[in-house]
Amino acid sequence: MESVTKPDREVRVEAKPRDTSDSHETVFEIAGLTVTYGSVTAVEGVNLDIRSREITALIGPSGCGKSTVLRCLNRMNDLIPSARVGGKVLYHGIDIYDPGVDPVEVRRRIGMVFQKPNPFPKSIYENVAYGARIAGIRDLDGVVEESLRKAALWDEVKDKLDTSGMALSGGQQQRLCIARALATDPDVLLMDEPCSALDPIATLRIEELMLELKDEYTFVIVTHNMQQAARVSDRTAFFSIEVTPQGRRGRLVEYDRTEKIFTSPSQKETEDYITGRFG
Ligand code: ADP
Repeated sequence: MESVTKPDREVRVEAKPRDTSDSHETVFEIAGLTVTYGSVTAVEGVNLDIRSREITALIGPSGCGKSTVLRCLNRMNDLIPSARVGGKVLYHGIDIYDPGVDPVEVRRRIGMVFQKPNPFPKSIYENVAYGARIAGIRDLDGVVEESLRKAALWDEVKDKLDTSGMALSGGQQQRLCIARALATDPDVLLMDEPCSALDPIATLRIEELMLELKDEYTFVIVTHNMQQAARVSDRTAFFSIEVTPQGRRGRLVEYDRTEKIFTSPSQKETEDYITGRFG
């Protein structure tokens, strides 16, 4: 089990191995999460529990803070100097913002796939082996094959592992990025609009892949595509923008099972959004 040492104390992020039990236990407990960038409050007071081996979709109008909330789940906002994160993000009960927690280890357990496929300018093999090597995994050939198989890319690339990852199609590049994230043995994958740069066929391939993998992994996906949220997710969080005297800020309006959100939401604001009445 990896751990992180800091001068004063040590906090283990890897509370437990990937959950393969039948229960959909809570992976993230988000409480009172508020994120500011300088004087701008991006989101305020978000409370959200994310369950294991489900796909949770974050939806809402542009600028309501979906990506900001997603980035808080693996401390990617640490990389934005003006970002300040308040409230709690517990991952299997551990506060990932505890000073004793190593953000690199957090990002190994909680991987991220971005909007635009971003393979390294290296071979397909190296793209997948990269993180696994850093994580100290020895059987790189085995991990590369397993990760590419899980990402439904192995059959398409097994005879050209030495060619550049950049030479693949957009959809293949995104599956390569998924394989790269899987290679470090995460238990959560965060996906920030992973299909918005892809054509409809490549999009469906990624959606199928998520559905195939959700027995083993927990997914949180930001999407502006409501059909996508309805097709793939188990739960949906709808965010909106509130205009206050201090400025515009994102807030979580409603969080429920996806079927409920799309058929009988509790809040009128949610209904207006999903039926296309934004006013
Ligand atoms: P969404 O994903 O819903 O479109 P974002 O999380 O990207 O929303 O943005 C929420 C708010 O935070 C917006 O007002 C946006 O301008 C602001 N914001 C996002 N990222 C940054 C950043 N790196 N620096 C400053 N402001 C940012």
